Amino acid sequence: IWFEGICKTYKQGDNETCALSGVSANIETGDTVALCGPSGSGKSTLLNICGLLDNDYHGELYLDGQRVAQDTMTTTLLRREKLGFIFQNYNLIPVMTAYENVEYPLLLNNVSSKERSRMTRHILDAVGIADQAHKRPNQLSGGQQQRVAIARALVKYPRLVIADEPTANLDTQTANLVIDLMRSLGKEMQTTFLVATHDDRMTSHCDRIIRLQDGLLIDEINGGFQQCA
Ligand code: ADP
Ligand code: ADP
Repeated sequence: IWFEGICKTYKQGDNETCALSGVSANIETGDTVALCGPSGSGKSTLLNICGLLDNDYHGELYLDGQRVAQDTMTTTLLRREKLGFIFQNYNLIPVMTAYENVEYPLLLNNVSSKERSRMTRHILDAVGIADQAHKRPNQLSGGQQQRVAIARALVKYPRLVIADEPTANLDTQTANLVIDLMRSLGKEMQTTFLVATHDDRMTSHCDRIIRLQDGLLIDEINGGFQQCA
């Protein structure tokens, strides 16, 4: 993913808030990148733009070698085809089993039932949750729910996964497991991860840290092992 000169202004009546004022970065395929910065620095705004959830910005965004056109038709299709999402609160569908939650993105993409079954089983196995597949989210621990959510985000082999504080609610042991899973599956599937996080357990394992302050990208640290308070 590559973005150049991204500017975003929120307008409310006569008030204008400049949330991003010219942010650029080139993120290598398969890298896990932490997006850090204090509250209000523009992290959610940038996640929404890179997650193709917000088309109302200036600047250029490239995904998988292609310029992303800023119309809803294009972004909806691209989002379905190439993106996965992971949230702080897992956001699993409560009436569906773990298996059904993971299979769901494939249903939306019209994958045949035989392929759906193969792909769903494969990814549930990869995140180590195959034996819990029949359970509903409220029968699973937080760590197990987040592993199901990772499986759901990765089941269709997305090019980019957008994650918002994915380890915030997890104890250290579980957080480390989740981070290892994201990293190893990302490398294996050549999926890029863009992760908004305050969690040092996360940032210390990322390939790269992008830091925002007041809508500007203030510095970048390559190679990880940097704290990001
Ligand atoms: P972060 O995720 O780092 O906390 P945000 O991207 O949410 O930062 O916010 C960046 C700036 O944009 C802040 O000043 C925030 O108040 C403002 N902002 C965010 N969303 C809206 C909105 N929907 N309407 C108006 N201002 C907004
Ligand atoms: P973890 O170490 O991954 O956080 P827990 O120790 O919380 O896991 O859970 C251990 C087992 O208890 C798991 O098999 C899980 O399915 C089950 N379990 C956890 N929370 C609940 C719950 N609220 N209702 C039913 N079963 C649960």
